Amino acid sequence: MLYIHEIYQSIQGESSLAGVPCTFVRLAGCSLRCTYCDTPQAWRPDAGTAMSVDEVLAKVADYAPSLVLVTGGEPLEQAECIDLLKALVIRKYNVQLETSGAFDISDVPPSVQKILDIKAPSSGEQQRHLWGNLALLQEHDEIKFVLRDRNDYEWCKERIEADLPDTPAEILLSPVWGELDAADLVAWMLEDQLPVRLNLQLHKIIWGANATGV
Ligand code: SF4
Repeated sequence: MLYIHEIYQSIQGESSLAGVPCTFVRLAGCSLRCTYCDTPQAWRPDAGTAMSVDEVLAKVADYAPSLVLVTGGEPLEQAECIDLLKALVIRKYNVQLETSGAFDISDVPPSVQKILDIKAPSSGEQQRHLWGNLALLQEHDEIKFVLRDRNDYEWCKERIEADLPDTPAEILLSPVWGELDAADLVAWMLEDQLPVRLNLQLHKIIWGANATGV
């Protein structure tokens, strides 16, 4: 069984598919405690309803999506998440997985687009990152840095230059909502000519920072 916090339809708010209609499958449970986390309601492993993979598939099918995002919490903390991803792929959905970067991604089906966080210093969870995951990324995958301040940005820039020069994945920089001005981040990106994409959280721009289930 999987513990599912919520399943709903909205638009994808982030990634290169921002703005595309999307069905969200949010798994419960996360052992990280990022300082800027906007889904603490999904932290507890039992913060959801126990559902079989078939029950999740049936609920997803109600929305007739083309794009499905599996997120959390940290979805890979539940072993059956891999079974769910495989089942979604078999049903020909376009599948994205948002993961903290703290768990092994080697069993994720290759056709799933992974959005892999690298936790910056201000997250408080920098030490949880599994650097070995980076070698498993493909061209359609994305790496996301969430940045709170200039210190995070400078650290991120060093990582991009030292650890990611050959990554096939697109790199997303996302300012912490209400703390780092996106205009400042864009100015730094352009000044340093970093090979990155700005990642804003469309759902917060549309519905506000505290809205859930959208
Ligand atoms: S990994 Fe994601 S869900 Fe877990 S604490 Fe960090 S931001 Fe929140």
